[in-house]
Amino acid sequence: MPIDSTPLIKVFQLECEKGYTDSAVFGGLDKFIARWAAKAEGAITNRRLLSRFRQLHLDRPGYALLTREQRRQWLDDVISFVSEVEKAADKRGKATPPPMPGKPSPRPAKRAAQAYQSLDSSITAIKGVSSSLAASFGKLGVTTIRDLLYLFPNRHLDYSQRKTISQLVEGNEETIIANIWQVRQVMPGGRRSTEAIVGDETGNVRVVWFNNPYLVKQLATNNQVVISGRVSIFKGHPVFQSPEWELLEDRELVHTGRLVPVYPLTRGLKPRQVRKLMKEVVDRWAPQREDFLPPELARRRNLPKLPQAITQAHFPENEATKSQARVRLAFDELFLLQLGVLGQKRQWQESQPGSPFEIDRSFLQTWVKTLPFSLTGAQKRVIDEIMADLSKPKPMSRLLQGEVGSGKTVVALAVLLMAAANGYQGAFMAPTEILAEQHFSNICQLLSQAGRQEAKEDYLHRYSGLLERPITVALLIGDIKGSRKQELQQQITTGDIDIIIGTHALIQKEVSFHRLGIAVIDEQHRFGVAQRQALRQKGFSPHILVMTATPIPRTLALTLYGDLDLSTIDELPPGRLEIKTRWLKPTQRASAYNFLQRQVAAKRQAFIICPLIEESDAVQARAAVSEFEHLSQRVFPQLKLGLLHGRMSAAEKDEVMGQFRSTKLDILVSTPVVEVGIDIPNATVMLIESADRFGLSQLHQFRGRVGRGQEQSYCLLLAENPSQIGRERLDIIERIQDGFELADEDLKMRGPGEFFGTRQSGLPDLRMAKISDVALLEMARGEAERLFARDPDLKNPEHQLLVKELARVWPGEDSEWS
Ligand code: ADP
Ligand code: MG
Repeated sequence: MPIDSTPLIKVFQLECEKGYTDSAVFGGLDKFIARWAAKAEGAITNRRLLSRFRQLHLDRPGYALLTREQRRQWLDDVISFVSEVEKAADKRGKATPPPMPGKPSPRPAKRAAQAYQSLDSSITAIKGVSSSLAASFGKLGVTTIRDLLYLFPNRHLDYSQRKTISQLVEGNEETIIANIWQVRQVMPGGRRSTEAIVGDETGNVRVVWFNNPYLVKQLATNNQVVISGRVSIFKGHPVFQSPEWELLEDRELVHTGRLVPVYPLTRGLKPRQVRKLMKEVVDRWAPQREDFLPPELARRRNLPKLPQAITQAHFPENEATKSQARVRLAFDELFLLQLGVLGQKRQWQESQPGSPFEIDRSFLQTWVKTLPFSLTGAQKRVIDEIMADLSKPKPMSRLLQGEVGSGKTVVALAVLLMAAANGYQGAFMAPTEILAEQHFSNICQLLSQAGRQEAKEDYLHRYSGLLERPITVALLIGDIKGSRKQELQQQITTGDIDIIIGTHALIQKEVSFHRLGIAVIDEQHRFGVAQRQALRQKGFSPHILVMTATPIPRTLALTLYGDLDLSTIDELPPGRLEIKTRWLKPTQRASAYNFLQRQVAAKRQAFIICPLIEESDAVQARAAVSEFEHLSQRVFPQLKLGLLHGRMSAAEKDEVMGQFRSTKLDILVSTPVVEVGIDIPNATVMLIESADRFGLSQLHQFRGRVGRGQEQSYCLLLAENPSQIGRERLDIIERIQDGFELADEDLKMRGPGEFFGTRQSGLPDLRMAKISDVALLEMARGEAERLFARDPDLKNPEHQLLVKELARVWPGEDSEWS
């Protein structure tokens, strides 16, 4: 017989209106609820609902003991539960009692129903999670119940082996189950603490919880307690000091006697509290997590079900289930990541046609012969790889990586010229204005022997002799005055300019192209998928070549840039000398300065990089100014020094760079912000202050500023008081020259997130997957390709949960899943 919930709901509504003061019925709500529940329990036939009912009704302190917020929460929950029961009754075709006669105010029920329906509900929907607790979780990036499910423990304590008291070994982490003989408050050293004597059939042991007098109340004598913790010896006897504990009751152990999770914490979160909450959340919500992997795939790869994997990742039965869970969850991350990047690649290549170029090799060869050097084998190879892409109707999407100084610029120029030969425009985008200017002057240099210079206007050079028509190269930077800039923009729009060099920002914001055929993007890290999408033109997508000097190991490239094909220049131009790198003691500073002086006397130049200061550009600039003054007045009064920092205008920076390039300056003092890509072949010394504060790849970038000419070059590292990690880094950079080897070391020390800095976000988190999971990564890649091969548009009904999950993990307007 269905029960009539109307009186209950009425009482609850009244209680809401009275502000949760436990005053809706005489004698308090607890009694009323107990009476009603006794009747209700018999009437609920659905097993799931019954267990929910018991959870709601029995698994809580009395209503009278709840805080106001907890009361509100609990009432919401019950009301929503009742409406669910009614719905169930409805489905079975039975008469439903009118929900709330005369009271058209189902607001709390609605709110609660929402809270109960989804993993996306705020964690405040969980019973007992106050807004301040939620704020603490917020600091860990947890706002929803789903986030909580995916807040995995940092590690587990192995308390799974039960020992008897006679078996306890000093110094070991041990678990016992014992009877509580005696509990009392004690005051060791004036700290109010709890002491218990517990015993099993083999003996007794003393347990002390320092600074915690409240346990006296919770540890009643003659109860069975489980104790897990390190055993120490006090006055010849074993003792547990502040161990984990819990009463041996009729439920699963959480804190002791098992593999016990250790969660990441922050202010306001206590280990025991979090663990208890996580147990409840996992038990309740893990089963609700839809398993989005195609069942066939999960079976074939022998992966556990998702709810099971989540549960075992938190509260594992044993090491084996824990590691299976990790594999499944790590696979999920990598698989979704691969599907995302491969999907983007497909979308880039297939939604809009590219423009196939006709590859005229003889034209290229003629130009190459005019260069002051011959191309390295690696340069030739990557040019071939790129040309093969360009001849296809699909837009190219390629990453070119090559060590600092490996000669990427000339490869870029080959590509830009090929676009011009085909009647298209090419854009060459640099991360900073200094670099854009440098590319402009280098490219003009590389063209100067091939063609006759026809015009040399401000920011625009024109060369004839390479094609039937002249080729026009222009520089577009922020400094250019209004009317001249408009003129240039106009010429780009009409197609009068073939090659446009500028910063990412300028080219994307201020220019509309006549016919953009290819975009070359220098320095990959600041250029994500979204920016690439922004380059699309009406009607077709340009080919894209992204260049980076930060070598990325293949597996990582596959993970992070799976949407790009990969070309690598793995060979430096001949005759380059190894840059001698020395980590100096603070006491060797004077001799470092002497060394600089001698190099300058030998007509070389030097860089000095100021310490990294993280507060702000302004602070950084001030520090650099005072360092500059100190160096030029005290240390090198007879030399000419220049200063470069991020607060200078582009024109000022230019002026200084120009002076340094034309050897009017001997030493360039610079903040770390202006690190990338500067090419001064006559500079032979790079002195880095506080070198321990920089990452390996950044140190390697700095070092790459020298050793570009024929002379022996040096990199000197100063560090006042390096940390352990800092010392390791300095040791590695001193030892290793090769960028790829360094990148590997860097990854080992830092992990991929830090390796790329926060800028490289926009990619889903990797929590379980490690970058060393090469086999798993290859497997995820293979499965993603297989899936696309079978169901290119993911239309198969079996894949719909997966599509939903992809849309969640890869949000954003241009996502093909949303
Ligand atoms: P990066 O890859 O760091 O951008 P660049 O393109 O700036 O390197 O090249 C570094 C220097 O090497 C430049 O001065 C360039 O002219 C020179 N260079 C490039 N290719 C070769 C080569 N094959 N042989 C000799 N020098 C080369
Ligand atoms: Mg470069």
